[in-house]
Amino acid sequence: MAAEIIDGRKIAGEIKEKLGKEIEELKDKGITPSLSSIQVGEDPGTKVYVRAQQKSCQKIGIEYSLHQFKGDISQEELANFIARLNEDKKVSGIILQMPLPSQLNGRVLQQMINPKKDAEGVSPANMGMLVYGRPILGPCTAMAVMELINSTGVKLYGKEAVVVGHSDIVGKPTALLLLNKFVTTSVCHIATGKRGTLPQCIAKGEILVVAVGKANLVKGEWIKEGAIVIDVGINRVEGKIVGDVEFDVAKERTSYITPVPGGVGAVTTAMLLKNTVEAAKLQS
Ligand code: NAD
Repeated sequence: MAAEIIDGRKIAGEIKEKLGKEIEELKDKGITPSLSSIQVGEDPGTKVYVRAQQKSCQKIGIEYSLHQFKGDISQEELANFIARLNEDKKVSGIILQMPLPSQLNGRVLQQMINPKKDAEGVSPANMGMLVYGRPILGPCTAMAVMELINSTGVKLYGKEAVVVGHSDIVGKPTALLLLNKFVTTSVCHIATGKRGTLPQCIAKGEILVVAVGKANLVKGEWIKEGAIVIDVGINRVEGKIVGDVEFDVAKERTSYITPVPGGVGAVTTAMLLKNTVEAAKLQS
């Protein structure tokens, strides 16, 4: 069996097109969604993300403001700036670009963002609502994973899923979103890997989501035949971007698989835009 390759760019394009129309309607009602992005220091990866976000926002009519700070800014100064954005009625969504320099506590700063302006959906309030099955602004990457799974049209109720990776922003929220759809969900992590039981754990997954950040960690032959595979990982190997799954082998035995690049990443950006529009509506 050869898998159907899930086209993340196409799915993202469809989401953005719908959002563009919704933004036109909102503007007619006097609501202009806007995203304020906070960038600290000179991280080259962040610069690339910021440019891509700026372009995507402009394309569909979201106002994008970039606030750049020197790498030596203090926690207090940045906290005060976030408080100002929280109060500013013109700001719908806020994103704090990671990574931050070591003197800053990113988690504390992220928690200061008003949950109704939390464009990334990572604040404790938004994570809490996810536990209750009613996310207000959901975590972008986990929501992107669900969009990609749903694009297959496969019924989720009662299926067996395996999530590899248990980070706060990807693995854990993805597992919760799957649970909310009555999917029987197992989560593996570094300790599963060290114990050597990753292949057995992965073999159960009719749906497999991998979010680790280690190139080719998941061997194609470990994966259940006919599974849906969502590869979140981004790794640079010999100048090329690859995922966490051994793609060439996996695509021959699965039913659907996301490529890297061109899978989760594109849809994650679309989810950021979607949250910004939702945030604008929440505040109007
Ligand atoms: P993280 O470092 O916070 O978490 C990694 C997880 O992998 C941890 O839960 C850890 O326990 C687990 N792990 C590590 N080694 C393992 C092993 N040998 N076996 C099993 N589990 C192991 O990473 P993250 O922020 O969740 O990101 C994961 C990957 O996804 C990275 O490559 C990141 O770049 C990528 N990512 C992509 C997008 C996107 O939009 N495409 C968004 C966010 C993150």
